[in-house]
Amino acid sequence: MSSVRLFEVAPRDGLQNEEAVLSTDDKLVLIDGLIRAGYKDIEATSFVRASYIPQLADADELMRRLPKVEGVRYWCLVPNMRGLERAIDAGATHIATFLSSSETHNRKNVNRTVRESLDGVKAVIGTARSHGLQVRAYISTVFGCVYEGEIPIERTEFIAAELIAAGAHHLALGDTAGMGHPELVKSSLAHLQAEGIALDQISLHFHDTLGTALANVYAAYEVGARAFDGSVSGTGGCPYAPGAAGNVASQDMVNLFDRLGVHTGIDLEVLSQTGQFLEEVLGHPLPGRYHAYWQGREARKIRSA
Ligand code: MG
Repeated sequence: MSSVRLFEVAPRDGLQNEEAVLSTDDKLVLIDGLIRAGYKDIEATSFVRASYIPQLADADELMRRLPKVEGVRYWCLVPNMRGLERAIDAGATHIATFLSSSETHNRKNVNRTVRESLDGVKAVIGTARSHGLQVRAYISTVFGCVYEGEIPIERTEFIAAELIAAGAHHLALGDTAGMGHPELVKSSLAHLQAEGIALDQISLHFHDTLGTALANVYAAYEVGARAFDGSVSGTGGCPYAPGAAGNVASQDMVNLFDRLGVHTGIDLEVLSQTGQFLEEVLGHPLPGRYHAYWQGREARKIRSA
């Protein structure tokens, strides 16, 4: 049986794009639900300046209180060396770096050129590796940018090769603007593979802005990708990509793989309950399709009880 590795990013990528600021206690309930659902790779928080992203201002406290569970890896996003130092002080063992393949998106996100970001990220990776940390490196806007349109895959290839040479263990290719489509995904992955970047080093991070996320997941799976990011109930867009909808909903992805007979290790029912909890504490409807289907099914159960 084929299997996939699913990264859950709601506690960081999902929550940082929500207006509501969740309490640390509620975040721990969310993360506990994700662990009970079966997740082994959870992006827990980000060590950015609290004034930039108040939703994640409790990163240090959250890290201290995370349950230590055998086999569960908590990933923390670090924007720079200062963030890495904070992450190490808080006991992080797995970090994620980021930069964009689009110059304009990168400048709007971190006010640096891609070259400047790449140099900074490589230094962070080097220091993280010297402390024995595992490193995941995000490349954003791989499949298109709202400012620049289609981004040549050669730019991603160049950045990916530099990140791997610097010591990144794993890459996450982000469709930040949700502009990817299945043929572009397939040709992009084929190009990267032909240039020596192995698919087992890559996870795909799709957004559902234009409703193509699940089609892109399937396209990537068909050409051999086996790691995917999702966010429970489809939380999280991008504040610097106007109109960007949320990440692909984790339940939708798990349901798809279940139906395809692909092993995910995730219990869809526990995940759905966790998505329901998240919707209740955020206080507004969340966009996931299976999430809505599950809610309808629960409502019918109550009516017929
Ligand atoms: Mg995202």
